[in-house]
Amino acid sequence: MASITLNNLVKKYGDGFPAVNDISIDIADGEFIILVGPSGCGKSTLLRMIVGLEDITDGELLIDGERVNDKAPRDRNLAMVFQNYALYPHLTVYENIAFPLRLAKGKHSEEQVNKLVTEAAATLELTDHLQRKPANLSGGQRQRVAMGRAIVRQADAFLFDEPLSNLDAKLRGQMRSEISQMQRRLGVTSVYVTHDQTEAMTLGDRVAVLKMGELQQIASPRELYEQPRNLFVAGFIGSPSMNFIPATIENGKLQTVLGDLDVPAEKLAKVEGKKVVLVGVRPEFFEDAKLVEESKLPHGSIFTATLTHTEWLGNEQYGYINFNPDPEMRELLNNLAREMDADELRPQIVVTLDAASRIRGGREAEIWLDTRKLHLFDPESGENLT
Ligand code: ATP
Repeated sequence: MASITLNNLVKKYGDGFPAVNDISIDIADGEFIILVGPSGCGKSTLLRMIVGLEDITDGELLIDGERVNDKAPRDRNLAMVFQNYALYPHLTVYENIAFPLRLAKGKHSEEQVNKLVTEAAATLELTDHLQRKPANLSGGQRQRVAMGRAIVRQADAFLFDEPLSNLDAKLRGQMRSEISQMQRRLGVTSVYVTHDQTEAMTLGDRVAVLKMGELQQIASPRELYEQPRNLFVAGFIGSPSMNFIPATIENGKLQTVLGDLDVPAEKLAKVEGKKVVLVGVRPEFFEDAKLVEESKLPHGSIFTATLTHTEWLGNEQYGYINFNPDPEMRELLNNLAREMDADELRPQIVVTLDAASRIRGGREAEIWLDTRKLHLFDPESGENLT
């Protein structure tokens, strides 16, 4: 196992545009890091640079403190686990796992091969399946065979390139927990690329969010969710997404399309001097005012709104509120959409209501908003000011 250090890594392809732009990350020995971001943000390129399949244009890559920029992939001792597992259909599980050992011709005696494969199979609970062919295995077992290969090589780190993206939702969920358990059991340094934020939030010790080749934030899943550094991260992490509502500040009050919000003084102090901000608030911090405990009410604001419709999900409901921004606010939302790499941002607020709420679309209702949970963003820089 090993630590991996990325120092100001840059990758430029032929057109000169940096696909990876000055990225620095310290990955500790045994750590599980997720690289996440929209299509084209550079996450696969970064992974391929680590494993040695792409040249490094600038910066330094260190494995256990040693510079490996110019080392061939086979000399880096890293194991890549691919999307389709790359198993050989005509070989048994045993031979599939043994494959990398046989590739290193003459390096391992038959006895050693047997020992390594048997041990890996035991760790992966594949002992009873060693004589089967991949076609006769479940998706989860196939994934484990692919990991078995990485284990017998005694690789310093595992690199995963969207290994689950071809699977249906149910299998993906099962596989996700298999990978997570396996990684923790083996304690092997792992870097995992995905564009799926559920995978990002559930698998990693830390998650690195990328946008257009640049690192936006690297933090634990909880910190990303609760303290996103900027609009992009705030909008990317969480489902349904965080709501963004334009607001003006006048006489110490936050004025929005929902009405004036009573924002804690310490939050307002952080945006002193600003005239316009974007309020960011996650759907779950709204609630049917009728269902909020008396003691909680003073910590938020109540506003009246007409929901267009609600969606009942059994354990909770989503409600939708459309708002009508004035031209200036609309411009702000357009800028925001660009910042977030989205086509447009609908002037709509999504609220999560308790399953017991009687609020329905088409009628006015009182909604409570926990104003302690608001984020205030600078509409120009996108930075989270709170
Ligand atoms: P996806 O999720 O779609 O795989 P990604 O985040 O993994 O996307 P990369 O594949 O790393 O993104 O690509 C990053 C940028 O580099 C993109 O703009 C892409 O078009 C460009 N790019 C990738 N590979 C090459 C290449 N071989 N030659 C030129 N440009 C490339």
